[in-house]
Amino acid sequence: MSRYFTSTLATLEPYTPGEQLKIPNLIKLNANENPYPPAPGVAAAVAAQVDGLRLYSDLTEAKLCAAIAKQCGVRPENVLCGNGSDENLLLAIRAFCDGEHPLAYADITYSFYPVLCDLLHVPSKILPLEADFSIDLTKYYGLRGCTIVIANPNAPTSLARSAAELEEVIRRNPDSIVIIDEAYVDFAPAGTSCVPLVEKYPNLIVTQTFSKSRNLAGARLGFAIADPALIADMNRVKFSYSPYNINSLSEAAGAAAMEDTAYFTKTISKICETRQHTAARLRDMGFTVLDSATNFLFATTDRMPCADIFRRLRERGILIRYFSAPRIDNWLRITIGTPEQMQALLAAIGEILE
Ligand code: PMP
Repeated sequence: MSRYFTSTLATLEPYTPGEQLKIPNLIKLNANENPYPPAPGVAAAVAAQVDGLRLYSDLTEAKLCAAIAKQCGVRPENVLCGNGSDENLLLAIRAFCDGEHPLAYADITYSFYPVLCDLLHVPSKILPLEADFSIDLTKYYGLRGCTIVIANPNAPTSLARSAAELEEVIRRNPDSIVIIDEAYVDFAPAGTSCVPLVEKYPNLIVTQTFSKSRNLAGARLGFAIADPALIADMNRVKFSYSPYNINSLSEAAGAAAMEDTAYFTKTISKICETRQHTAARLRDMGFTVLDSATNFLFATTDRMPCADIFRRLRERGILIRYFSAPRIDNWLRITIGTPEQMQALLAAIGEILE
């Protein structure tokens, strides 16, 4: 830190993204990216947009919002696009939290929430998960004065609750904003997404992303769905710091990906099939694997410290994710890749544990 860095951020601990090792034949299972290419129509849609790069991108992302609204069964005025879900989370926290309105979230969840709180000088109210990493939603009932964020399915635990269960949290906090972060919802059972509740609850914001189920992590594209009044509030923040937050190539890519429902369904079902097979094999090898509703597995074993398994896989060019955080420092988060990648992973783990 230089001596010029503002003292107001002196204690800021930035987010640690999944490592991006640059080695040949890397098997990258550490950032919950999709192992399959973007939908076939994406390349042509992006190419057709190149001439348009001369102009600023569409301030309202009209084409993309229309495609999202159609797929999600909402109106375009319910949609706000962000530079990844990360940006939408920032816009929401900036708009709906302050010194008197802390952000409430679980102790084990997406580790970007505490970073955003520190950056934006928003206090945190941490509500611990249960011993089995499930979430006791009654802890979130009537949380006066707090904005709430719940990742559902949660990361890194991979566990999900139903929309009906989450509805109680939304219903019992009518004077607070409830953000449901649905980055992984497309890999979860039907009835998990809270999007259908947006019409009913003016205090609900649902965030989703193109990074996982839409194969576009590098495009940096996410979207929020909420009552138009909340979208307008978040737009006030967006237009105060990054009006053209979505570049026109990403907008075109996102619209094409959204429209190709057949490709979307096919890749999701391949990933869910691979997930089931990989979890079963890991259990055969003596791992405890939580029941995943995501495109990753959260697993532990007492056969060898998980930090050592992580390190030894990394030496073989297989990257998974290990967090040295309290309560989860003997767990591994493993992204679901192609069947071939998972086969290589399982073989390597088998050898390491021998
Ligand atoms: N929420 C959760 C729970 C996540 O795991 C991630 C991905 N790291 C995000 C949001 C952000 O996704 P993106 O910014 O790529 O849309």
